[in-house]
Amino acid sequence: MEKMIYPGSFDPITFGHLDIIERAAKLCSILHVVVGNNPNKKYTFSVEERIEMLKESTAHIENLVISHVDGLIIDYCVDYDIAIMIRGLRALSDFDYEFQLSTTNRFLYDKIETVFLMSKPTHTFLSSSQAKEIGQFGGDLSQFVSDSIAQAIYKKFK
Ligand code: ADP
Repeated sequence: MEKMIYPGSFDPITFGHLDIIERAAKLCSILHVVVGNNPNKKYTFSVEERIEMLKESTAHIENLVISHVDGLIIDYCVDYDIAIMIRGLRALSDFDYEFQLSTTNRFLYDKIETVFLMSKPTHTFLSSSQAKEIGQFGGDLSQFVSDSIAQAIYKKFK
């Protein structure tokens, strides 16, 4: 089976990301889960913290490589000879952005295919930013993230 990559901010990992990781890992030999570090984006958690949270949340999955990239994700794909990129699709509102991204990636590396996995209905409206907004005010995060990630969010906004 092919290697695949699932890139994202994972700032922090939510149950939505975890569901995509678990499903994608079953479709490939090795799944590279790669934390992006785009200097134009402002992250709540550092790369190290995001990687640590990913590692802890996915310890039960064997065929994962968890890593990060400072530059273009597509360069990582070329370096590791990965031709399949997984992305998650929630509501229709994700489509424009993901369509643009996959088209741009094809321009940069014509071997790359983006494969979209639809989110579980219960995760359709789940995002890292929403979890952080709720966590900032001490709200219940049990439907969004694991307990240890919830604690990390509460601590960050203390
Ligand atoms: P990015 O900054 O690359 O969009 P995210 O961490 O927000 O990074 O998301 C990474 C990928 O995971 C994207 O394809 C996004 O659509 C997908 N994703 C995020 N949340 C969910 C969810 N709840 N269900 C399914 N896919 C999701």
